[in-house]
Amino acid sequence: MPELPEIETTRLGITPFVVQQTIMSAIVRHPQLRVPVTPNLSTYCSGKVILGISRRAKYLVLHLSEGHMLIHLGMSGHLRIVNEHTSFGKHDHIDLCFTSGSILRYNDPRRFGLWIYLTENPLPHHLLTHLGPEPLTDGFNGDYLYCRARNKTQCIKSFIMNNTIVVGVGNIYAAESLFLAGIHPKTAAGTVSREQMLRLSEHIKNVLQQAIKAGGTTLRDFYAADGRPGYFSNELKIYGRQNKPCYTCKTRIEAISIAGRNSAFCPRCQP
Ligand SMILES: [Zn+2]
Repeated sequence: MPELPEIETTRLGITPFVVQQTIMSAIVRHPQLRVPVTPNLSTYCSGKVILGISRRAKYLVLHLSEGHMLIHLGMSGHLRIVNEHTSFGKHDHIDLCFTSGSILRYNDPRRFGLWIYLTENPLPHHLLTHLGPEPLTDGFNGDYLYCRARNKTQCIKSFIMNNTIVVGVGNIYAAESLFLAGIHPKTAAGTVSREQMLRLSEHIKNVLQQAIKAGGTTLRDFYAADGRPGYFSNELKIYGRQNKPCYTCKTRIEAISIAGRNSAFCPRCQP
């Protein structure tokens, strides 16, 4: 599943090819995504200029000279820039064709994505209002986590993966930042000290920033905007390393299931 760093990498990757482009047409080959694509999408966006692209959690918003396009990549979606001569494949469901001849192409084998045209700014849209702060903003920090965790018995891993607490901390990034902060993933969130929360918030920021810098993790369904997969997985310290020795203390890494997700941890470094 594309996670926050992949979405941010996509945003950064497509921005120079998309901003200031005039949309000629939208071709929708398969409108049945998680929710149906706005009917007659082309009539809403033809002739409009893309003024900018913003991201909130895992949503991308194309701000048009009139209206906004809200996009979510779902479980397996990705965006690429191709030219008008690039033939489309089986899962290339949407093309946003520009007057310059280039195309923003949306591919989504599992079709859990979302493409909706909205006349209003989508940030107050019902899909986005419940979301917690962005992890890379100053509003997300140790004090914030500590305050939100008061009296919470939920385990710390599920707590930081809950997008009403903070957005964009997927399974990989939760496992990595808990390892770096030395916190066992099953610890009750309400018992984590202020100092540990401070460390945890810093590691969450660092791990996400590193992944964005590396162009996203190497996940089966993810390709950077230029078609190349990312390479962050080479640097993962705990995720996917169960039964291997911990890089820090050589102890055998264990794994437990939390909320149905595999959760690797080092029993010595994360007591
Ligand atoms: Zn260790």
